[in-house]
Amino acid sequence: QCKEHKSSEYRIYENSMNAKAPEMFMLENSFHGALEKGEFALYYQPKVNIFTQEIVGLEALIRWQHPTMGLVPPSIFIPLAEETGFISEIGSWVLKTACDQIITWHHQGLQPLSVAVNLSAHQFYQPTLLAELDHILSTTQIDPQYLELEITETTAVENIELTTQLLQQVQTLGIHIAMDDFGTGYSSLNYLKQLPLNTLKIDRSFIQDLKPNTKDLEIIRAVVALAMGLDLEIVAEGVDNAEQIQVLKELNCKIVQGYYFSQPLPTAEMTRMLQDNWQQRRHPVTVALNSG
Ligand code: C2E
Ligand code: MG
Ligand code: MG
Ligand code: MG
Repeated sequence: QCKEHKSSEYRIYENSMNAKAPEMFMLENSFHGALEKGEFALYYQPKVNIFTQEIVGLEALIRWQHPTMGLVPPSIFIPLAEETGFISEIGSWVLKTACDQIITWHHQGLQPLSVAVNLSAHQFYQPTLLAELDHILSTTQIDPQYLELEITETTAVENIELTTQLLQQVQTLGIHIAMDDFGTGYSSLNYLKQLPLNTLKIDRSFIQDLKPNTKDLEIIRAVVALAMGLDLEIVAEGVDNAEQIQVLKELNCKIVQGYYFSQPLPTAEMTRMLQDNWQQRRHPVTVALNSG
């Protein structure tokens, strides 16, 4: 009797796992033509040096303005795009759009900043990745050091040997590499030794409840020391309050990204923020970005 009960429970679980919500089917169907109709946009979130308040780089984050479903977050549609293969098209569009934007900002006379682009596993392991990167660098003529690629630990450990090779080739092109969501996947010291990386982005889960005398604080202290020893840049993700900033200052964790400074912004708003930031550099007396 007990066994029967268990197995029927299992069936329910299994069904709910397999059954795709109707909204997912709708999204899946509307990938067709969505790029051409201009439904996707890149938003940009600044990485800020907390000691100088200067913007030191940006992360490009995709948004989908769906005609009937409204703004769909990437956490919903990126996995779906991976599953259906649309990620190749979307990923190419993201790379191209980000690189074009780097050029536009350059033409507008703004201080050059690096823009980070997220790559999902499927994109990263696609055999055409290097050719595509090479092509985009030569057509846009951007300085490759201003393009950064973010991959996650989960992506990296899918095939650590291949990842090492690929990242070496990416770095040969002059492109920088960041390990995103650091600490949430298999943060093996072995791969830190092996992979050619430029940046570690400490996942928001370690920052969320960051206060004095917490385990999170000690973990970040250790990661900062590790990164320093390995000559990696550290970025704290998801910083949204002044207390976190205070703790991060004490840990000498200089670069942060999060709502405390800015949400991800549409291009026009980011352009204005960059213009203000640039003004600020030339006239350091003007007010800081956020006095918090
Ligand atoms: P991620 O790369 O780790 O990006 C950081 C996410 O944290 C972004 O969510 C950002 O809006 C959010 N965030 C930033 N600061 C704060 C904060 O202070 N508090 C909180 N609660 N959240 C904050 P978003 O834009 O929804 O993106 C989610 C994920 O979707 C990204 O995580 C990335 O993995 C993926 N993604 C976004 N854009 C792209 C893309 O163009 N291509 C691919 N393949 N994946 C993307
Ligand atoms: Mg990212
Ligand atoms: Mg992240
Ligand atoms: Mg994340």
